Amino acid sequence: MSAPDRILHTEKDWQSQLRNVLTSRDRLLRELHLSPADVSPTYGSDENFPLKVPVSFVRRMRRGNPRDPLLLQVLSTHDEDLEVPGYARDPLDENSDTIPRRGIIHKYQGRALLIVSGACAVHCRYCFRRHFPYQENRNSLKQWHDALHYIRSNHSIEEVILSGGDPLSVTDNHLHQLIADIAAIPHVKRLRIHTRLPVVIPARVTDSLLNAIAHQELQIVMVLHCNHANEIDTAVVAAIDALLQRRITVLNQAVLLRNINDSVDAQLALHRRLFASGVQPYYLHLLDKVHGAAHFDVPEKTARNIMQSLTAQLPGYMVPKLAREVPGEHSKRVL
Ligand SMILES: *Cc1c(COP(=O)(O)O)cnc(C)c1O
Ligand code: SF4
Repeated sequence: MSAPDRILHTEKDWQSQLRNVLTSRDRLLRELHLSPADVSPTYGSDENFPLKVPVSFVRRMRRGNPRDPLLLQVLSTHDEDLEVPGYARDPLDENSDTIPRRGIIHKYQGRALLIVSGACAVHCRYCFRRHFPYQENRNSLKQWHDALHYIRSNHSIEEVILSGGDPLSVTDNHLHQLIADIAAIPHVKRLRIHTRLPVVIPARVTDSLLNAIAHQELQIVMVLHCNHANEIDTAVVAAIDALLQRRITVLNQAVLLRNINDSVDAQLALHRRLFASGVQPYYLHLLDKVHGAAHFDVPEKTARNIMQSLTAQLPGYMVPKLAREVPGEHSKRVL
């Protein structure tokens, strides 16, 4: 597939799209020509993680379909209120052992993760970070000093991962300065950015952003988060193409989600469409067992069966690695 021409966007464009969000369930359902009776009942308790979805993402939902896979990722429901045994508020046990300085998680060898922003363009209902104490860990530009010092004095760190929240929700100026500081550390060879924004608001990929992240001293890897083929429209394809033209390695991680992408057909379509857009598969994650997300869980056996079919039907380079995060282990566990 050849990439469509990219419309050149400015910082003002994506920031206005970032503000152009639906936060009302009724409004979202009306947009989609649905009535509340068509979907699971509402809930009302989690004020820290309200419904939030940009209009640019809503446009990719199919009207009149209460089971639309994009809608189900963002629609808050009463299922989130259920206390389910085994589902915790901090499923990954990210605590003082793994947070050596404010804003940095250092769990795996050679890689340190910076929490650049607690904010996201969209609130994915299954998100394992929904209860993370961002206020205690979010650094303004001036506050990065301690975390950068930690990386500078820790010579084993070859790769810095920008994460969040969504690290691309901060300004280009913030990213530019932070990345310049990272690039100046000689033992850091790679910069990785984990983001959902180029998928949710492809206008985020501006020339100014590309200038802020592309760096001579660093190899740049961007790991997108896309769960369903319907998320990839022509604007997303164009944004990916712009990243590739800057020699950024573009990978994708997805989460296996019940009723959203837990079928062989959905996974085939997703990985074919990603690859056609120039994206290599990385992880297919089993759900982290976070409170409020139990209704998205797919049993490991089902996941393994789906993987078997994918392996049989796709070339090896299009097959993601099925992975689960197990607290206390030295890497993600590949199944
Ligand atoms: C997932 C993760 C990484 C990166 O792990 P990879 O297997 O290299 O993708 C690094 N640090 C933390 C804290 C993570 O959760
Ligand atoms: S964009 Fe990523 S971090 Fe943000 S809510 Fe969705 S899954 Fe969570």
